[in-house]
Amino acid sequence: MLYDLIIIGGGPAGLTAAIYAGRAAMKTLVLGSSMPGGQIATTNIVENYPGFPGGVNGFELANAFVRQAEEFGAEILQEAASKVDFSKRPFTVQIHDQTYSGKTVIVATGAFPRRLGIPGEKEFFGHGVSTCATCDGFFYKDKVATVIGGGDSAIDEGLFLTKFARKVIVIHRRDELRASKQLQERAFANPKMHFVWDSVAEEVLGDETVTGVRVRNVKSGATQVIATDGVFVYVGLIPATRLFQGQLEMNNQGYIISGDHQQTNVPGVFVAGDVQDPEFRQVVIAAGSGATAAIQAERYLSAHPIDPV
Ligand code: NAP
Repeated sequence: MLYDLIIIGGGPAGLTAAIYAGRAAMKTLVLGSSMPGGQIATTNIVENYPGFPGGVNGFELANAFVRQAEEFGAEILQEAASKVDFSKRPFTVQIHDQTYSGKTVIVATGAFPRRLGIPGEKEFFGHGVSTCATCDGFFYKDKVATVIGGGDSAIDEGLFLTKFARKVIVIHRRDELRASKQLQERAFANPKMHFVWDSVAEEVLGDETVTGVRVRNVKSGATQVIATDGVFVYVGLIPATRLFQGQLEMNNQGYIISGDHQQTNVPGVFVAGDVQDPEFRQVVIAAGSGATAAIQAERYLSAHPIDPV
């Protein structure tokens, strides 16, 4: 199974790369993980992806990416790679006991939600603790939901939760939000949104499901228990790079270092999307880097063809 290009990761970066590679007549395999379209599929409304005035549902956008990649001939497997070998060409990617070979590779594995690591978080995960309001918000009809974090994700998803919950409490470790001004304005104008500033969650409390969260004010040191039916954790992302340790150069936060035009330290292996972007992490930027990576992979292959194995 020799491909011109293997794309590891099936989010906006990987699928945009697949669209470009398919149009360039490259035999392309995309390895997605469990969620077709990646993280964006769990986002409520994407308001800033060009071409969609009024916004687009994340799940619909993700599915459109998948369909378009398939239209251009990409083969998509919803399977996670378990091992890679980038030491020689063709590069190999293993899934279970199956090995796939690629003349070029694009790594677009994205980033996954960071956890707080506090008592109760793991125990109640799936029973009141979640990292996906879009998936679980429905269960909070007329209930109280608590969001932890102050970034775009926390506020966007908190606003989504107000559609169901009677009250949404945002716990943030500082006294100002990191989220965009537009989201802040909407959040402050929504009577269901409540804010607990300068506070960190120390423990998720409950019996069979979540009943509360114990928080500490970082300025006064005072602790209080906030009654809630659910806790949604939105405290940033961690790059999904464990598979590439020892093979691709990474920075001290674990993000893959992208050189000129999405090139990694291994010639023929390119990188795109959130896995190389600690700063912007926008769908449009991920898609753009995916397009660049695919164009570069095609150029690299033309300049460095290899015989079929
Ligand atoms: P983020 O921007 O990194 O924000 C993480 C938030 O969690 C910050 O407010 C941070 O506090 C807080 N935090 C981090 N570690 C914490 C801890 N241990 N305890 C308590 N709080 C903690 O992550 P994100 O909101 O997931 O956004 C990720 C990227 O996606 C961003 O670039 C964002 O712009 C983008 N995004 C965009 C949209 C949109 O455009 N609509 C929607 C979602 C996400 P501090 O503020 O004090 O650092």
